Amino acid sequence: QDNTNLLRFITCGSVDDGKSTLLGRLLYDAGMLPEDQVAALIRDSRKLHADAPDQLDFSLLTDGLDAERQQGITIDVAYRYFHTQRRSFIVADCPGHEQYTRNMATGASNAELAVVLVDARKGLLAQTRRHTYICALMGIRQVVLAVNKMDLIDYRDDVFAAIANEYRELAAHMGITSVHCLPVVAPSGDNVGQRSTRMPWYRGPCLLELLESADTAATQAVDFRLPVQWVNRPDASFRGYAGTICGGQVAVGSEIVVQPAMQRARIERIVTADGDLAEASAGQAVTLTLDREVDVSRGDVIADATRPAPVADQFAAHLLWMGDEPLLPNRAYWLKIGSRTVNARVTTIKHKVDVNTQAELAARRLDLNEVGYCNIDLDHAIPFETYADNRTLGGFILIDRQTHATVGCGMLAFALRRAANVH
Ligand code: GDP
Repeated sequence: QDNTNLLRFITCGSVDDGKSTLLGRLLYDAGMLPEDQVAALIRDSRKLHADAPDQLDFSLLTDGLDAERQQGITIDVAYRYFHTQRRSFIVADCPGHEQYTRNMATGASNAELAVVLVDARKGLLAQTRRHTYICALMGIRQVVLAVNKMDLIDYRDDVFAAIANEYRELAAHMGITSVHCLPVVAPSGDNVGQRSTRMPWYRGPCLLELLESADTAATQAVDFRLPVQWVNRPDASFRGYAGTICGGQVAVGSEIVVQPAMQRARIERIVTADGDLAEASAGQAVTLTLDREVDVSRGDVIADATRPAPVADQFAAHLLWMGDEPLLPNRAYWLKIGSRTVNARVTTIKHKVDVNTQAELAARRLDLNEVGYCNIDLDHAIPFETYADNRTLGGFILIDRQTHATVGCGMLAFALRRAANVH
């Protein structure tokens, strides 16, 4: 299992910028469309565009969602899987309108890279800013800015350069460390699956090459962490702790600590469905056995003994509200983080953030799709990481205790009160 060989990315753009066409063209150029789908594409393109029977309308490949959108059906996020010889991809395709901010946040929360699309004639819009902010908030540090419809501005490099410069500044401001700007024409595939001959002034890689070579290690946490999903105890002779490693690596013999109780042990076996391993790393689902009896339950974190996670019960966090009812301070919610669920209250909304301008505004409540910076109180101290260090142990959801609906997602910024007995 090689985790560097899977890239999760998200595509963001406004209506009509060419997102469906770009994604369809990308799938086509990657050579991964089944034959019947290519045949249907040719047939439907002819039917729809009698004037240009030899041109393929790539937006037809990914437009299924648009119909649902027009009918007002609440859609979540469409995930598509494809692969090339070099890498596998999972792309989250979600609507870009502000009313779908919560969907976009869901798609972005486990993506390592975002492809942000703009129309070369329009340049950067408020939407571009909002999409980039949500991506940054959800922990994406790598963006490809695809400046589309270059054919409609005569492939002018000065227009492209101006958009690219403005975007780099905006992205840097939001903490996005890696930006690659790319001029494309989605329908003809210029700089999508192949480098364009029409824009010789652009000497960089095409979109597919960028996606194939993007660094997937950048978003991975370094210290070993495994949130225990369940305790596997089929009989008296075996006791294993199952979960997915969410940071670093572990080997047989490694010294670990079970948090928050802070009991130490060594790894005896790393068991998987395909047999035992000598070592395992982030992204792998494993069952660990330990060399001595310690008390481990679901929700505990098994961590590197020399670099354990901090433990705390009060936090400052960014919160994106997903509930139809507003967030009200001091109401009790369930907070799920890693594999643990605790009771939580938002004690203070310090400010909310206008997602279009990033201005900080005073607020007494958060409404659907609003982002706030809040203080949160838990009834238990938990092992955690900041979201910037580890998305699994620093990211949480809030659940309504009556309806059991997910009403918010949050990113821990820092601990306001750490458990004193731990370090
Ligand atoms: P979406 O709403 O962002 O998914 O946009 P679509 O992919 O449906 O494209 C909107 C329209 O723009 C369609 O008519 C496309 O054919 C057209 N389009 C997309 N990309 C380009 C491009 O690079 N050049 C030109 N000339 N038209 C494009």
